[in-house]
Amino acid sequence: MLDTLTISTQRTTAPRLPGIDFAQLEFGKTFADHMLVVDYHDGQWQEPRIVPYADMTVSPANSAIHYGQSIFEGMKAYKNQDGEVALFRPLDNFHRFNASARRMCMPELPEEVFMQGLLQLIRLDSGWVPTDPGSALYIRPFMFATDAMLGVRPSESYRFMVITCPVGLYYAKPLRVRFEEHYVRSAEGGAGAAKNAGNYGAAMYPTKLGQQEGYNQLIWTDASEHKYVEESGTMNAIFIIDGRLVTPALSSSILDGITRRSVLQLARDWGMPVEERKVSALEILEAQRNGTLQEAFGVGTAATIATIATIGYQGEDFELPTPPADAFSRRATAALAAIRKGDAPDPHGWMVRV
Ligand SMILES: *Cc1c(COP(=O)(O)O)cnc(C)c1O
Repeated sequence: MLDTLTISTQRTTAPRLPGIDFAQLEFGKTFADHMLVVDYHDGQWQEPRIVPYADMTVSPANSAIHYGQSIFEGMKAYKNQDGEVALFRPLDNFHRFNASARRMCMPELPEEVFMQGLLQLIRLDSGWVPTDPGSALYIRPFMFATDAMLGVRPSESYRFMVITCPVGLYYAKPLRVRFEEHYVRSAEGGAGAAKNAGNYGAAMYPTKLGQQEGYNQLIWTDASEHKYVEESGTMNAIFIIDGRLVTPALSSSILDGITRRSVLQLARDWGMPVEERKVSALEILEAQRNGTLQEAFGVGTAATIATIATIGYQGEDFELPTPPADAFSRRATAALAAIRKGDAPDPHGWMVRV
C-alpha cells in the first residue's frame, strides 16, 4: 500500500522493547512503545500522530465514561519466517469499526486514516511482533467520545487510537460452557452486532455467576425465547453435526466475527456443507445424545478456535468427544495459522503486508 498519508511521529526516548521477555506475556498487559492518536472535532478528523505509549487525561465529565459512546476492534499482525509482518483481513476490521461507529452515533473514519495509521504504527513497532508459533501482535483500535458535557446526546468530539501488545500462544484448556437461560448478552434490535464497550461490561455479571458454577463461559441464547444459540462468551459459536458446519445466522444481536467468516470460508473451500441458520439448544443436546454432535467450538481473534468439551443445560452436563487429529476444528486452526505465518498460499488475499 502506498504511504499517501504522512503521519507525524514522535519516537520514544525510552524504548522498553529490549527488556521484554516474549516467553512471559500475560494477554493485554504489555504494550508496545508507540500508539496512534487521531482527534475529531469541529466536524472533522484532525492530523493523525504517532506518539510514545503513555497515560492520557480526560475530563471527569467525559461523555464516554458516563454514557458509553465507546467502540473497539481486535486484530492481529503476524511475522513470517523472513521477518516480514502482515495483518490478517484488516479491511474487514475497518468496515466493522465504521459499522459500530454508525450504530453508536460516532463519526466514521476515512479508510486512509485507519489503514495508514495502522500500517505506519506497526512498521515502527515491528520489533514487537513476536515470531514463536501461535504468537502475534494483538492490535486494539478504539474510539471514544471526548465531550466534557453531561447532557445525554452524541458527543461532538472523539478520539481514535490504536495500541498494540505482543501476545503468546493462546492456550486454553477445552472449555466448559453452559446455556444461559436467564440473562442476555444482547437482544434483536439492540447493539450486540456493534463492538461497543457496554456490551462487555453488561456480560460480566452473568459470566461471573457461570464461572462460580464451574463453567468458563456462557452460551448466550436469544432474548425473547432463550431457545436459540447466539454466541459463546465473546466468540461466535460453531457446531459440527454429522459432517455439516452449523452456526447461528448473523443478526442485529450477533457480532459478525472475522474468524467466523474465515472458518466458514475454509469449510466451503473444503466442500463441507455450511448452514447459517437458527440453532436451538435442544437441537445441540439432541445431537449430543444421538452421537452426531462431532465438535463444538468458539471462534474469535484472541483464541482463533477454542474447543468446547462440556455443555451444561439446566443443571446437567453433557460431554463432547475429544476432537481427533483430523477434526475440522484442528484442520482449520492449522490452516489459518499457516496462512497467517506465510507458510501456506493465501488464495483469498487475507494477508496485508506491513
Ligand atoms: C470480537 C467478537 C467476536 C469475534 O470476532 P473476530 O472478528 O473473529 O475477532 C465474536 N463475538 C463478540 C461478541 C465479539 O466482540
